[in-house]
Amino acid sequence: MAAPLYGQMMEVPLLASSLLSHASRHFGDTEIVSRRIEGDIHRYTYRDCEKRAKQLAQALVALGVEQGERIGTLAWNGYRHLECYYGVSGMGAVCHTINPRLFPDQIAFIVDHADDAYVFFDMTFGPLVETIAPQCPNVKGWIALGDASCIAEHLGDMSVPVMSYESLIAPHDGVYDWPLLDERQASFLCYTSGTTGNPKGALYSHRSTVLHAYSAALPDAMGASSSDSILPVVPMFHVNAWGIPHAGPLVGAKLVFPGKDLDGKSLYELMEAEGVTYSAGVPTVWLGLLAYVKQAGKRFSTLKRTVIGGSACPPAMLRTFEDEYGVEVIHAWGMTEMSPLGTLARLSFRQKQRTPEEQRVSREKQGHVLFGVDMKVVGDDGRELPWDGQSFGDLHVRGPCVIDRYFRRDDSPLVDGWFPTGDVATIDADGFMNITDRSKDVIKSGGEWISSIDLENIAVSHPQVAEAACIACSHPKWTERPMIVAVLKPGATLTREELIAFYEGKVAKWWIPDDVVFADELPHTATGKLQKVRLRELYRGHVLPDVAEKAV
Ligand code: ADP
Repeated sequence: MAAPLYGQMMEVPLLASSLLSHASRHFGDTEIVSRRIEGDIHRYTYRDCEKRAKQLAQALVALGVEQGERIGTLAWNGYRHLECYYGVSGMGAVCHTINPRLFPDQIAFIVDHADDAYVFFDMTFGPLVETIAPQCPNVKGWIALGDASCIAEHLGDMSVPVMSYESLIAPHDGVYDWPLLDERQASFLCYTSGTTGNPKGALYSHRSTVLHAYSAALPDAMGASSSDSILPVVPMFHVNAWGIPHAGPLVGAKLVFPGKDLDGKSLYELMEAEGVTYSAGVPTVWLGLLAYVKQAGKRFSTLKRTVIGGSACPPAMLRTFEDEYGVEVIHAWGMTEMSPLGTLARLSFRQKQRTPEEQRVSREKQGHVLFGVDMKVVGDDGRELPWDGQSFGDLHVRGPCVIDRYFRRDDSPLVDGWFPTGDVATIDADGFMNITDRSKDVIKSGGEWISSIDLENIAVSHPQVAEAACIACSHPKWTERPMIVAVLKPGATLTREELIAFYEGKVAKWWIPDDVVFADELPHTATGKLQKVRLRELYRGHVLPDVAEKAV
């Protein structure tokens, strides 16, 4: 056999540091704006950011941090967190972003499991650090993201010794060459929220980080551009803010970081002040923003589009954004194990020839894969189901940005080389995927499946409903029947019977929920998803009206 003929192009590894270097060199004056914990607005450029990220890299080298060591962060979206992203991964260590909204015990478990050598934290999380530090004996130092005076003001006396980030990097000059790493080396580490069991770590490589940034930025994915001003509401502590801190520098977009203030008013004011054209976040955040703009009678003067994902975007929310405010919604699906983007609902030329209603139906789905992701739905026998938009089964994915195994676990999660997502979905002839449920949330009535997401979407399309969850209630004849737990908007007068009647004509008769109960609020996970496990616990003993009648 003849020897393979190799291409004769430069062997340049795909490294996270190259994203920031590119932005610093070619979009050096483009701004990064942050609302700080200190209360003010901070602004500087990609050029400044790279210099300080390099100062941090030098500081880490001086501390004796070695390639491959994990460095934790407990921080909001902000410029210092971005410097940690690049300073840590750029020098060859692993930037381990930790979700501060998890329970302290879970956080301590994660820090310990990841074996973080140092943890950088925003001053808001001082009390959290005090709580978890005794359970994390291997952490060599806790570094507060601020200067010494600010730390003294915000943190006061802490029982844990704390270093100041600014004092740590100040002695270094930022004259530093990013090391030429092997692109397969680890770059970032993110743990899943772990609604059941302990959180599991997804360890990304430099190669997967850069490939994901490329595909995330494409026009039919997030469609990021140097002409955008991007405000990621999705936190940098959750799956790398869906890759925006990487895709933003890749295209040279302006970045706007909201810090800790994620209420509707604060977000709106920052968007207007910084000419934000593009945003991304989970549905719960947008509920707050939409409620604020409505009540205050405001309009968006620059916002053009927003990515909504993390949990299903209710069609009613999509309509409100587009019809009332002229903001395009891009519905997206993904997961920590996928870096995280999997699909986005952006229409092809062919789909755009269809009626507006047909187009909207497609855009309400989770959408088309981005380059680098392959997917299939399989039935109980493991065989692939047809792409007919009807057959639903377990969704499996694979690709260079999908995990092969979890960090520090020997068992493989893969099935025949595919990663089972735990989601139940259909795929239609356009290749558009639609999630009907998490496999553990699906409702099985008389052996048939009912989609809890569909029923939730209908409930929140009622003008008096603010939020709704659909869970299974046990039933002697049908095994399970759907019930709705709804939160009403202020001043609403909607009754149980009226909401049940609202389903008529919208779904098959046997899908109509058997009961509706009203609650003041719904439990959410640390990433803003409905906490169905908790809801099922709360309503475990709930007796459906028809069952109660028969029992009398
Ligand atoms: P966790 O750590 O909670 O798993 P992820 O962000 O990785 O956090 O969650 C991934 C899961 O979130 C998916 O498997 C899916 O169930 C759900 N999800 C994400 N986006 C959507 C969406 N657009 N529609 C429905 N479910 C979604």
